[in-house]
Amino acid sequence: MMRGAFDDVPLTTLFPFLTAEDAASLHRAAGTVDAARAGRTTAFWEWALERAAFPGTQAGTPIALGLDVIEHAEGGDQLEFLLQVVWTDPGQLAVDTAANVACWCKTDHATHDVDALRLVIGEETSLSDAFRAGAERLTGWLADPHDADRWRAKAGLPPRRMS
Ligand SMILES: [Zn+2]
Repeated sequence: MMRGAFDDVPLTTLFPFLTAEDAASLHRAAGTVDAARAGRTTAFWEWALERAAFPGTQAGTPIALGLDVIEHAEGGDQLEFLLQVVWTDPGQLAVDTAANVACWCKTDHATHDVDALRLVIGEETSLSDAFRAGAERLTGWLADPHDADRWRAKAGLPPRRMS
């Protein structure tokens, strides 16, 4: 993965179908996310030029472009927010937005998704529309108090154990 500021992302190489207007819309949406996390995290945007085209079958969901905002707390706790443009099938892009928290169950699951939104890109939903909706969801999460236990309570998960 390459990493940098959103201005460094080669948008029209990654997504050759983007119009200038779409690209400007992506920049605006990314700007709202960058503003919402300003001063709190140094996370970079990441992208993979080799995934400009569908990379074929591989494990997991190949990410073309994404942002991973991880907030670590003391005692190994973690709250993570993701905004990603992914390939779900040949020729099929989607925008995934997810919030996850560190697991404190008796059985260690590492992390749990506590909220997620996938918008599949197609005739009805353009990449710029999906990206804007994902960015709105992410900025909403970033505006909330960053309290992993609150997220776990909402999802019915055990709270962090104090040692
Ligand atoms: Zn768990």
